[in-house]
Amino acid sequence: MQPVQAMSLARYACDPARSRGRRHPELPAPTRSVFQRDRDRIVHCTAFRRLVYKTQVFLNHEGDLFRTRLTHSLEVAQLGRSIARSLQLNEDLVEAIALAHDLGHTPFGHAGQDALHACLKALDAAGAGFEHNMQSLRVVDSLEESYPGFNGLNLSFETREGILKHCSRRNAERIELREPGGVARRFAGPTVGRNPDWAGWRQPVLEAQLTNLADEIAYNAHDIDDGVRSGLLTLEQLEEVTLFSRFRAEALGHHPVLQGRRLLFEALRRMLSEQVYDVMNATRAAVLASQAGGFEDICRYGPLVSFTPDMASQSGELKKFLHRNLYRHPQVVQTTEAAKGVVRDLFAAYLNDPAQMVGLAYSAQVAAGRTPARVIADYVAGMTDRFATREYQRLTGRKAFAE
Ligand code: MG
Repeated sequence: MQPVQAMSLARYACDPARSRGRRHPELPAPTRSVFQRDRDRIVHCTAFRRLVYKTQVFLNHEGDLFRTRLTHSLEVAQLGRSIARSLQLNEDLVEAIALAHDLGHTPFGHAGQDALHACLKALDAAGAGFEHNMQSLRVVDSLEESYPGFNGLNLSFETREGILKHCSRRNAERIELREPGGVARRFAGPTVGRNPDWAGWRQPVLEAQLTNLADEIAYNAHDIDDGVRSGLLTLEQLEEVTLFSRFRAEALGHHPVLQGRRLLFEALRRMLSEQVYDVMNATRAAVLASQAGGFEDICRYGPLVSFTPDMASQSGELKKFLHRNLYRHPQVVQTTEAAKGVVRDLFAAYLNDPAQMVGLAYSAQVAAGRTPARVIADYVAGMTDRFATREYQRLTGRKAFAE
């Protein structure tokens, strides 16, 4: 039996038969490609199930209809696969990266991450701190414990490379020491790595570049939707965003009596489609102009998956609008500050009494050479919003958030 590929791939698509492989060699699966197998391992892992109760922007307890990390990841996978199919890129790889890209997020979104980073840095200023992309890699490389022969999910190089979408240079150099010429090479300094073949290697495969952009397209659109649903943004306010107002006007042109949520959805639907077509066209043109030979060659060029310059600037305007009016909205900032306090207090409580981390083989992990702070950070980062909130109440006797 042979792995079945849904459709033919472009020469610049990532070919699973030429994957750089897994860290622990395994026999190939009889019917699935390496990337299909990666995707399946991700869907079945514990960290993936936790995404359902992790915050995207609005905290889990604030409403049932807001995006969570899980629904966000599914939207990224949908958009990414749609674009990948049109460009004849490898949909399975895009899907695997999309479903795993947020596995390392803490509870309470970026607030949790910032608080955890500060906790780690306070104990070890020169240490790695906390980066969610690096944590996503830790989850799939070492924190999942369900296989007999290795820790983590033992994913392929290409999926891991896509998961590590950003990394600070110092942290990249740390990863390089363990894995020379590996997934962090492109973020590390020019003096790191001994293989001269890697000198020009600056980009991941196109499927990883695409998933990165699909992430941005997804959150820009769904944060508008969630922002309006929460009452923190209004349709009138959104009129100042060129991209949105254009499609709102277009939607009204076709459906003059449309209003409220249906108008919002129709404008967002048109905006999403336009961005997807824009990426398809801009990327097709960039790949052709690059004259790149195959997918191994692609990495030597600058980013090839992109918006057209006009769409990039409109998307940037929308991002700035969301920062100003939603992510920094006083009500969001208030819950963000409360969430930071919860993470800080949990970290301190476990540092004070590690036995409170129920079900964790703490001593064994420290004996294996991991610092107490890192063991605690992994434990806290893995929590859902719900579990973190309950733990906070159990350990402090206080409610984490005002009802
Ligand atoms: Mg994301």
